[in-house]
Order: sequence, then structure tokens, then C-alpha cells
Amino acid sequence: MMCSKTASDAKLITLKSPAEIEIMREANQIVAGALNMISERLDVGQTTWQLDNWAEGFALERGAIPAFKGYHGFPASLCVSINEQVVHGIPSQKVKIRKGDIVSIDFGVQYKGYFGDAAITLPVGAIDSRRTELLQVTREALYAGIAASTVGNRVNDISRAVQMHVERHGFSVVRQFVGHGIGVLLHEGPEIPNFVRDEMTPRLLAGMVLAIEPMVNMGGAGVKILRDGWTVITSDKSPSAHFEHSIAVTENGPLILSGPCKTELPLASTCGI
Ligand code: MG
Repeated sequence: MMCSKTASDAKLITLKSPAEIEIMREANQIVAGALNMISERLDVGQTTWQLDNWAEGFALERGAIPAFKGYHGFPASLCVSINEQVVHGIPSQKVKIRKGDIVSIDFGVQYKGYFGDAAITLPVGAIDSRRTELLQVTREALYAGIAASTVGNRVNDISRAVQMHVERHGFSVVRQFVGHGIGVLLHEGPEIPNFVRDEMTPRLLAGMVLAIEPMVNMGGAGVKILRDGWTVITSDKSPSAHFEHSIAVTENGPLILSGPCKTELPLASTCGI
């Protein structure tokens, strides 16, 4: 799959040099810039296709290639997933943004040979308090996962931090799709599930770059894929949120590559999108 990946065979884990991490920061800054632009423009009546055009143009103007378009046949540059849609929603000229929607936007680019990947979920106008909490908890779960991304920890420590924060608030983590390593490929090892696995998981090493991406449902954890072959929705039609950052594991702590500031954790929440 794409923006987030399905659980599958183990893929190679590669360690990046500081110079490579700097290029990946540039790639991710283009992603973050596109997401910021959409968050400022998003409004009732726009089509999801319009959002796709904005993101694609933003990347191309900066010499980056949209990463999702054509990836396993995905037809667009952006994933736009509204309300009960979890991930991988296909932009369409027929789908309009409506008041009260929650809109998940996932974008990726390839730049100087390296990939960037990040996602946000945006409210359109006023949303009810439980949806507001869903967005807040999902974003907090992402930062809890990032904070656990320290040298010597294991992937399960990231997964546990995300899962515990989500379930403490009565929400569910999606299990069929997971975060991933990222580098010269959009999806590298290790897989980063948002739930703890009952097995030994890889130890985190300096130089790993990880796309951490909680997908959180207000109701049950179950999801299914629509007939378009892409759009993932919650089985119980409950709303779902998705936040993602690409981060580098360093000796000085996790470094958020897709955030608006260059400083390292702790206190990422002051500089995250
Ligand atoms: Mg991803």
C-alpha cells in the first residue's frame, strides 16, 4: 500500500548519515509546507481534488516529486480521508468539503533521492467535543511515540506509547496499517505498528528514520477497504483521525524532520504541526 503500509514481509532497515538526514529534512519540509498551506486554505465547498492540486503544485514548484501518485497505481498525489475514512482516500472532483468534517491529509514527496511523509487531520469549522478529543488524542499519541523513539528503545516502546495513550481515552488503534522506516524508499523497515506486538521488535539505532503514524478510531479498531481498492474506512463508520511525522533517531534524541522547527525533543509539541 502507500501512505501507511500494510503489514507484510520484513524490509531492510537502513541507517542514514547526518548528511542524508539533512536531505530528508529538506524533503520533509516540503511535505510540511504543503500540509501547512492546505491547513490555511481548507474551507467548505472545496473539492478534495482541489487540495490534491495544491499539494502537487507546491511540491513540483520546489523540485520535489509527489510520492504517492502512481505508487502501486494510486491515482493522486494526496490521500484525503474524510470522517469515517481512515487513510488512502482518493481525491475527487465529486467530493466536497463540508462543515463539521474532519479531513485527514497525507502527503509524501521524493526529493534528491529521498522520501518525506507526513499527515495531519483538520477540523472544518466547529466540530463536537468528542471529535475534538479524537484529533487531540491522536496528535498526542504521535508525540508520545516520537518521545519513545530514543536510542536503545525498541519499536515496541513506540507502539506501546501510542497504544496506551489512545486506549486511555477510550479510542482504538488501527492494526491493519502501520508506520514504517523511510529513506531512499517510501517504505523501508522496520514496521512501526500502533499496538504492541507479542514478539521481540528491532532495537532503535541512531540514524534510523521512521514515519510514525497513529490511525485512531473513535469506535472499534476494525477497518475495511472500499470497492475503489484504496479507501480504508472504519467498519462501524465511526470517525477516524491520522497524524504522521517522519523523524530521525539520533544520539541526542528524536528529531522531527517534518515539523516546522529544527530542534530536537523534548518539547516537540511546541514545534509540531
Ligand atoms: Mg507513512
